Amino acid sequence: MTYQPFWFDQAMAEETTSVSSASIDENPYNIAIIGGGFTGLWTAITIKQRAPKTRIVILEKDLCGQGASGRNGGAMLTWSTKYLSLKKRFGESQAKWLVQQSENAVHAISQFAKEHNIDCDLRVDGCYISASNAAQQGVLAPCLNALDAVSLNQWQMVNKEQLKHTGSGQNQHAVFSPHAGSVQPAKLVRGLRRVAIEMGIVISESTRYVSYTKENAPQNETINVCYSDKSQSIKTLKTEKLLFAVNAWLPELMPQFSRNVVLVSSDMVITKPMPERLKALHLNHGAAVIDSRIFVNYYRTTIDGRLMLGKGGNYFSFANQMSDKFNAPSQYQAELQHSLNYFFGDHGFEIDRSWTGPSDRSVSGFPFFQETDKNVVVAAGYSGNGVVQSYLGGQILASMLLNTHDEWQKCGLVNQKLERFPIEPFRTLGAYVIRNGIRRKERAEDNNVAPSKLDNYLAKLSGAAAKADTN
Ligand SMILES: Cc1cc2nc3c(=O)[nH]c(=O)nc-3n(C[C@H](O)[C@H](O)[C@H](O)COP(=O)(O)OP(=O)(O)OC[C@H]3O[C@@H](n4cnc5c(N)ncnc54)[C@H](O)[C@@H]3O)c2cc1C
Repeated sequence: MTYQPFWFDQAMAEETTSVSSASIDENPYNIAIIGGGFTGLWTAITIKQRAPKTRIVILEKDLCGQGASGRNGGAMLTWSTKYLSLKKRFGESQAKWLVQQSENAVHAISQFAKEHNIDCDLRVDGCYISASNAAQQGVLAPCLNALDAVSLNQWQMVNKEQLKHTGSGQNQHAVFSPHAGSVQPAKLVRGLRRVAIEMGIVISESTRYVSYTKENAPQNETINVCYSDKSQSIKTLKTEKLLFAVNAWLPELMPQFSRNVVLVSSDMVITKPMPERLKALHLNHGAAVIDSRIFVNYYRTTIDGRLMLGKGGNYFSFANQMSDKFNAPSQYQAELQHSLNYFFGDHGFEIDRSWTGPSDRSVSGFPFFQETDKNVVVAAGYSGNGVVQSYLGGQILASMLLNTHDEWQKCGLVNQKLERFPIEPFRTLGAYVIRNGIRRKERAEDNNVAPSKLDNYLAKLSGAAAKADTN
């Protein structure tokens, strides 16, 4: 059996009554969606809310949530700290709009979960972005000043007393925004699956998309989607429109995108429950804590008093292959342990489990929503920032698929001119050279030593990988 991340196991153990979906039938669908993660589910639900009669089917090769959506850190973050990058890429008014929409989305997800009784431990308790060494102090200032200039700055510098709520003396300074939080991601995605089925969306799990062809009828074009289900035989369904919401599997299914994303692991550990210890550290809340390096350390607690700590930018898969390493305990547990020690010293936390998963990094660090072929749409590139952003993806994709010509469909993330990573083997080789440079720089800074010029230069090449604009 495949190794399961902690969240997914916990969600499935608590899913006592599994709602079952209607089966795929022979009548044509209006929309077929490949992938039952946040993106596929939010899109389907949004379409049903806007156009209730739409016939929608979702094909998911495993169980909904077994991709990135059921294994991520559950940190609900916005694009406010990427304002400068958004502005540079899409212009000021789009950047402002995207920042505001991402902040609204945190509350919209929370509201949706409440309205639909999705019990997913979601806490809109905010986020602290800290300086966990002297070199990180002030790096956010240009971004926060730019947000101030357009009256969009929701971040406040915290005082010494509030700083204690980051739980670690390593955090020398921090800013706090209330528009953020944390969630048990697998419970959220399984809850979305349940709601989608209740809305009449057909969800076929253990059903693998194989290929599609187009059939030209006099009036409109039909797409034939081939898939294999539990019986292993190849079957076909008909649909008017097709969405690929497959995240890290995009290069495998659509090789034309193989240079637009790089699959890189994010790795995490979760401790056994230690609520008293967390309380003593002032960590009895659901805010996410993130430091200001490129490969951020981030941590949050759970309702039952565990601490989860994650770190991105570890394993790069050659030629974007979906390696078995993504379905195993983290091979970077020693680095994660080092981070735990860095923040919490002699903490006495006992690690319960580690896991990992592939993030689909785009060159820009922002997702893209492309119409690749008439009536065929693709979404990917969340770059490790997708819990909140996939809700926005759902709005954008619903507008694209319903062709509503609204602000979502017209937004800068749609039909972008995509930049490309280098070809292999230079891409993976380059990625490791840059990664190692960043690691050396960040280790030096943790030890209050000046990094080498080369490592500073290498770190600059990878600014888009950070959760906040830092250079
Ligand atoms: C380890 C990790 C930690 C992360 N931490 C955070 C975080 O703390 N905060 C944050 O905001 N973001 C985080 N992210 C990013 C976030 O999880 C993703 O951006 C988001 O979940 C993407 O959702 P999705 O629906 O697009 O993709 P997925 O959830 O990966 O869904 C894609 C689905 O497609 C299915 N599929 C693939 N091929 C086929 C096929 N042939 N047929 C049928 N189905 C197929 C897969 O099985 C999968 O279920 C993290 C990501 C990872 C990997």
